[in-house]
Amino acid sequence: MPHSVPLALATDAVPVLMYHDIRPDAHGLWTLTPEQFMAEMAFLHHCGFHTLTPQELEAAMSGDAALPPRPILLTFDDGYESFYQDAYPVLRRYGMHATVFVITGFVGRPGYLTRAQLQTLASAGWVTLESHTVDHPRLAHLSPERVNWEVRQSRSDLDLWSNQPVMAFAYPYGDYNRFTVQAVAAAGYQLAFTTHPGYAPLNGDPLQLPRLEVSGGITMRQFEEMLAPSWAGSSG
Ligand SMILES: [Zn+2]
Repeated sequence: MPHSVPLALATDAVPVLMYHDIRPDAHGLWTLTPEQFMAEMAFLHHCGFHTLTPQELEAAMSGDAALPPRPILLTFDDGYESFYQDAYPVLRRYGMHATVFVITGFVGRPGYLTRAQLQTLASAGWVTLESHTVDHPRLAHLSPERVNWEVRQSRSDLDLWSNQPVMAFAYPYGDYNRFTVQAVAAAGYQLAFTTHPGYAPLNGDPLQLPRLEVSGGITMRQFEEMLAPSWAGSSG
């Protein structure tokens, strides 16, 4: 147990924000309006947050590199086309890094990123494409063979399409068990993200990292409060 001070969160843990879809007619928990998203990114920019790549988080977790002040990881699940249309231009304006968890079997379907868009994002250099399986199943409910196929096939698809090394994974629905974690490790992933709420502890299990869901319709005050532990650690 190298760390025992629970409040030193800014140095011991990193907020990983979880986004899904962005739509002007957003309603419900999983969709934000473009205005909400823009306001949140402007806030992060204004407050001097440093957006990490998954590689940078992994390096900090394994002790190979120090984190910049006020680190944060921005993740987008499912690979919606709205990332390209509504998130990418905002992120580019602020020079922010983002990670998209792509369902490789959904690529090119209506509402989802196309292969050409994925290639544009990957070649931009500051969007990282990582795996969210082929079919978005509940992994804890599948046969071991099927789990192995989902985690391996999605990784090799993305390796090919993005020309980037794929090293991170997000469990669909946050559904996983001990075997799922083993399969993800055996497929070569170094980080895997759950939907358990919380900051990702640097000394935690890299294959069971919590995230903070950013729900549609939350206020800026609520967004700031989610990030309050980042302030707590940096003021003293
Ligand atoms: Zn998903």
